[in-house]
Amino acid sequence: YNHVFGKGKWKDFDEKDLLLSYNALKVLEARYLLKDPNTLRYIETPQMLFRRVARFLASVERKYGKSEAEVKQLEDKFYEMISDLKFVPNSPTLMNSETRLGILSACFVIPVKDAMTTPEGDGIYDALRATALVHQQGGGTGFDFSELRPKGDVVASTAGVASGPVSFMKVFDASTDVIKQGGKRRGANMGVMHAWHADIEDFIRAKTGQLKDVQLQNFNISVGAYDYFMDAVVKGESVPLINPRKTKIAGRDHEYYITKARGYMSEEWIQEVILSELEEKGGVVSLDESKIITVDEALVIASKEGAVVKYVNAKSLFDEIVKGAWDSGDPGLLFIDTINRRHPVWYLGKINATNPCGEEPLLPWESCNLGSINLEKFVIERDGKAAIDWDGLAEIIRYGVRFLDNVIDANRYPLKQIEDATKRTRKVGLGVMGLARMFIKLGIAYDSVDAIYLSYQLAKFIFYHAYKASIEIAKEKGTFPTYDARLYRDIWESALDFDSLLQTAEISDKPSDYVKKLTSVVDKLDFDLLKGERLKYGLRNSTVVSIAPTGTISIIAGTSSSIEPLFALAFVRNVAVGKFIEIDPLFLEYLRKYELDDPEVIQKIAESGIIGDNVFMPRSLRKLFRTAHEVPPIYHVMHQAAWQQWNDSGTSKTINLRSEEPPETVEKVYLLAWKLGIKGITVYRDKSKQQQVIYFGVKK
Ligand code: ADP
Repeated sequence: YNHVFGKGKWKDFDEKDLLLSYNALKVLEARYLLKDPNTLRYIETPQMLFRRVARFLASVERKYGKSEAEVKQLEDKFYEMISDLKFVPNSPTLMNSETRLGILSACFVIPVKDAMTTPEGDGIYDALRATALVHQQGGGTGFDFSELRPKGDVVASTAGVASGPVSFMKVFDASTDVIKQGGKRRGANMGVMHAWHADIEDFIRAKTGQLKDVQLQNFNISVGAYDYFMDAVVKGESVPLINPRKTKIAGRDHEYYITKARGYMSEEWIQEVILSELEEKGGVVSLDESKIITVDEALVIASKEGAVVKYVNAKSLFDEIVKGAWDSGDPGLLFIDTINRRHPVWYLGKINATNPCGEEPLLPWESCNLGSINLEKFVIERDGKAAIDWDGLAEIIRYGVRFLDNVIDANRYPLKQIEDATKRTRKVGLGVMGLARMFIKLGIAYDSVDAIYLSYQLAKFIFYHAYKASIEIAKEKGTFPTYDARLYRDIWESALDFDSLLQTAEISDKPSDYVKKLTSVVDKLDFDLLKGERLKYGLRNSTVVSIAPTGTISIIAGTSSSIEPLFALAFVRNVAVGKFIEIDPLFLEYLRKYELDDPEVIQKIAESGIIGDNVFMPRSLRKLFRTAHEVPPIYHVMHQAAWQQWNDSGTSKTINLRSEEPPETVEKVYLLAWKLGIKGITVYRDKSKQQQVIYFGVKK
């Protein structure tokens, strides 16, 4: 300690260590604290780790002409917010700062073209190599496999038969398995196939039925659903399945003005693209307008070219998706039109995939680094009542964005394509954790309109300040290189207002005066003023916020994960050395208040993990401590929708369902998600998979 912090500082840091829970220490010890490669002895403590990260990310400022004193001051600020557990960057930043491995980002999207390898390095086996490099250092990868020709199609060069996208996915899966042996953590992938692909039926079934718990275990899979597809589902109409090799229409070359017809973008979207292009170029358009065609025209051409393999009923396909998701959690849906319509730098191309957990819809080769604010820390006492420290929150947001922007400069990218794409747009993702605990401390039940309202207001506040911070950095260091003041799309212009969200979900309750007063500062935010600032100074980052799952960093911060409700009040954690019963510490605190912290009572609660059905528990506790499976599905969806409105990237959320929930619930959730403007949706029904890390209650 003396060596790192200077003599006499030991005591301060010792006290900071006390903020870390037992679980946090176990996690840090297992993967994060640096070890001497020869002796395998630890060479740092948690505070040294936080200091290492802070120092590394502050050091970037030297490049921008900051003085040593300014750099040191920023380092101290970064150190303070991480060690206070108010802001924690994503795992790769914690693991790899100042080390030989240099990936600091968690999210990557890697393109996969229909060729073994290509000179540009985006063929199937080029992608496999890139994936291995990313996984080795703890990053997660997403892919759109829709450009690959379907199973049984011809391979001209060998006069052979193509094995299809799903079989190539198995290769990626096997490679992920191998890498995890020597890597920082088990790799994670997102595999996407768009609903028009000829092999979509195989894809939908790739992880369910007999293949559940067997195939593609390192993949989450999602179907790319366009508005045309969802409309056809609702109307029960048929849709074509296409062989992308056979048509120039269904294939894609990332020229945005023809991607619409190729990927069946909505009419509205293409109109907007063409019109703004026309406007931008003063009426002179370089594109060949004959290429711009409607979906119907595209279909006629596709079928003439023999590219339409067959027509299927969209509702039947959707039912298959729902059945799969109900059975095993896969596939989820990605709403491709929503993603692209709300992509701030839409003019750079079309997004076809996201990272593994869905919080980052990215262009080919882009990466994004994340960091999350621990909301629980911003509940304070004012006049004897619980309140939100909005000023403190705004300050952490400002430093959080600066930290994440510095990550882009400090990052050592495994491939040039990734570096180039990432630096073109400088996407960062500031998110949150500890939302459920914040609610509890404010006396608000997760499954209430008040809670959804608070989510909505928090998301708006965080977005406002993150965006403002990015403008401030742009003033100082310049905008992201592809920033175009006129084309850049402000996502708040398409955010649904709170009342429309409730109406769409047919919820008639209204937020209370209590929560309105609690969040009244948010109503005073002036977005017009902010836009004026952006037009004047530009933006440093093309996206600023993102709601990540915070799977590990919420354990480090000792809070509830992301925007999820508490998972269980007491549960059994399956770890390598055995099973442990754990009690949620916040819950324990409340039990103490009611003098219910009796070992026998706790043991009883641990048997089910919940108290919602326990008539002997105080009513207020039963309401406040509603866990993930007790929260009605619609409230899960509403929280995701609330956060998505004020989010320029994605919102990761698991719609946790009770095991008794029928497939119709999944159907309702998926349709509602689309209507609410959510970008991607995943459900998980309790006990639907063999391997579940956390179980409810005590397994007898
Ligand atoms: P953390 O809490 O470890 O920072 P999150 O649970 O918030 O990470 O996940 C953020 C992103 O990090 C994921 O969407 C994914 O892209 C990546 N990621 C998470 N876990 C893994 C893993 N085991 N291997 C590779 N990437 C991962």
